[in-house]
Amino acid sequence: MNPHAAIPLLTPLLPDQEALAPYLAQLDANRHYSNFGPLNTALEARLATLFTKHGSHSIHVTTTSSATLGLELTLSSLDLPPGSKVIVPALTFVASLTAIIRAGYTPVIADIDPQSWLITPEIATEAAIQTGARAVLAVAAFGQPQDTRQWSSFQRKSGIHVVIDAAGAFGSQWVEAPDIPVIYSMHATKSLAAGEGGLVVSGNSVINAHIRQLSNFGINLDSNAGFPVGHLSFVGSNAKLSEYHAAVAHASLDQWDAQARCRQGIYHAYRQALEEACGDRLQWQAGITLAAPTIFCLRMAAEARDRLEKICQQRQIATRRWYQPLLHQHAAKVAPIIKQPTPVAEAVASGLIGLPFSPFMTHEDINRIVNTVNLAVTTPH
Ligand SMILES: *Cc1c(COP(=O)(O)O)cnc(C)c1O
Repeated sequence: MNPHAAIPLLTPLLPDQEALAPYLAQLDANRHYSNFGPLNTALEARLATLFTKHGSHSIHVTTTSSATLGLELTLSSLDLPPGSKVIVPALTFVASLTAIIRAGYTPVIADIDPQSWLITPEIATEAAIQTGARAVLAVAAFGQPQDTRQWSSFQRKSGIHVVIDAAGAFGSQWVEAPDIPVIYSMHATKSLAAGEGGLVVSGNSVINAHIRQLSNFGINLDSNAGFPVGHLSFVGSNAKLSEYHAAVAHASLDQWDAQARCRQGIYHAYRQALEEACGDRLQWQAGITLAAPTIFCLRMAAEARDRLEKICQQRQIATRRWYQPLLHQHAAKVAPIIKQPTPVAEAVASGLIGLPFSPFMTHEDINRIVNTVNLAVTTPH
């Protein structure tokens, strides 16, 4: 083991050719490569069964070519007037922002909770009072799930629509409330990986039928819809998941339990080693134990974070300031936004750092990283 070998930030683990072979054979036999083919239909049914086990109602799953397009189409399907305000937390991936803008709405950047690092119904309520927002894009940031029942109650009481961006939270975020659509990503770096792909999951078949139609340009395929079949009834896009990607998603699902166990095991050993070495110099996102962690993110004092980045660079240990710059710092250059005060997001971001994480990490990798973090947080300045 080379003690100086570079440690990458993430290394995706996707099914190999042997695991893919039975599904590719089905593709050859079906001669159906996109447009809601049999592999997509089977994938949606398989996932709906899985989600239904974790809720008290039936679940509908619609595949899309990415979570970003799933978010965009779900926001479009709300059919709010152009320019309507949509609340989004400051600490999230830029796709949460671009989806709102591309759906024709105005982002309202709001704060997060200091413990969970998530936007909450309380924060959204305050932002809605201040701005008159019509919808919230609540994010399951870093894979930590949102409480769909609380958001459902918020939606019923306020009349403000809620959509959940759970792109990185497959396996940890469930869909307990039937009226809240939840969007997942199957990008190579997410917990259920297909290379690219997204899922829109809800307990409402009307929502899912609408998203499905929007994913196929907006062409009406329903003879009962009051529109001629084959005519455009909405302005959609091409956001269909190909049968090839559905094949990879099936093979990924076959390996889900083993991969989730492996990711959890490494995460626990890694975090325990850091906690033993550095104690309360490190802070962690509060919440549940994730089913299949894909990134490793923590907080420390801002000076320690800056020092750690420098040492890691010398030692070829990759790091990433996840979700930074914050959304409003990006948005200032790309589109008009409305900004609420975000002191918590700014405080959390100032010491936030992502460290390497993958199913291929060894104990030597973990030890090397723990020693490096320990050096950075204890070095007197
Ligand atoms: C990864 C991610 C996305 C984008 O998902 P894609 O499938 O790559 O489009 C959106 N939001 C969040 C919070 C993410 O982590």
